[in-house]
Amino acid sequence: MSHFVDSYKLKVVKQIQLSDRQKKIVDIVKSSGPITGEQIADQLGLTRATLRPDLAILTMSGILEARPRVGYYYKEDTSQSTLLAETFKKLRVKDIKSVPVVVTENISIYDAIVTMFIEDVGTLIVVKEGGILAGVVSRKDLLKTCLGRIDLNKTPVSVVMTRMPNIITVTGEDTVLTAAKKMVEHEIDALPVVKVFVNEDGEESLEVVGRITKTNITGVFLELGEKL
Ligand code: ADP
Repeated sequence: MSHFVDSYKLKVVKQIQLSDRQKKIVDIVKSSGPITGEQIADQLGLTRATLRPDLAILTMSGILEARPRVGYYYKEDTSQSTLLAETFKKLRVKDIKSVPVVVTENISIYDAIVTMFIEDVGTLIVVKEGGILAGVVSRKDLLKTCLGRIDLNKTPVSVVMTRMPNIITVTGEDTVLTAAKKMVEHEIDALPVVKVFVNEDGEESLEVVGRITKTNITGVFLELGEKL
């Protein structure tokens, strides 16, 4: 998940100091664009050649855009924070998801607890044969089992898990924002990332392909925040 912003080809506009002439050009283009270089030069009482380096800087920095036979026009709000906000809105679950940590339905609660420690996760995804989503078991689900008198070695994890069809999921194509909303609304820490899978009988089941957690989303928040 690290450096996802780089892989996302985030266009970071460097903070550049514009000269007075460049600021005037931006104002002209803002009010009269699209406008040709010739027309800008006329308005400033300068030659087109004099303006060439300024126009090059303004287009390279993304403040103005140039289209052949149309001219220069002003690109709406290209500030870094806007681009970062756009990146965040478009970011998809598949861009930041983690590998799923899964256990099968029949493993004991004891083994599920051990797995949680070994894998260092707060939520285990419980699957049937073929990686099909069966349920989810959280830290507190397992903690609760220690209050009763059940045999942790003999009781399967399926007895305490939250089971399908009550599992909240996302697909890789969903946005990270959608995932965050689901976690907040349902007060849960993790979501299985699934692929809808139709078997030979036409029954729909969900194949687990990843997981997304509050930790993933905090990582995104930090990475974007540090670039502001
Ligand atoms: P904890 O129980 O450790 O505080 P959560 O807040 O994530 O962790 O879980 C709260 C309850 O919601 C638990 O009973 C858990 O089984 C269930 N749960 C966790 N994730 C999901 C999910 N994606 N869909 C449905 N239920 C979930």
